[in-house]
Order: sequence, then structure tokens, then C-alpha cells
Amino acid sequence: MNADCAECGAGISVPEDAIVGEIVSCKDCSSEYEVAEISSGSVLLKPAEEAGEDWGE
Ligand SMILES: [Zn+2]
Repeated sequence: MNADCAECGAGISVPEDAIVGEIVSCKDCSSEYEVAEISSGSVLLKPAEEAGEDWGE
């Protein structure tokens, strides 16, 4: 499956067995996206939440 990077327009290849919630990244600009929806061979990505910077301690 393929999706387009919202940042740079490059194609992002998503594994055929990807699941909703999986994180994929653009190989061109390193933007990270979360798989938001998968339907009949097409995939919808949304920007991944920034995580891991604030551990809350
Ligand atoms: Zn990109």
C-alpha cells in the first residue's frame, strides 16, 4: 500500500499487513505518521503524536 507524505509529497510505502495505529515514517523527510484507517487497499495516515520527550517525572 502507498500513501503520500503530507510534508514533502514523497510516497510512503506501508506494509500490506500494517494495522491501524502502526507508525510509519517518510524516508525522504523522516516525518512520522500513524496509520489512521485502512480500507480496501488504501491507507490513510495522520501525523504521529510526539511521544517520548516528556516522561512525566
Ligand atoms: Zn516526507
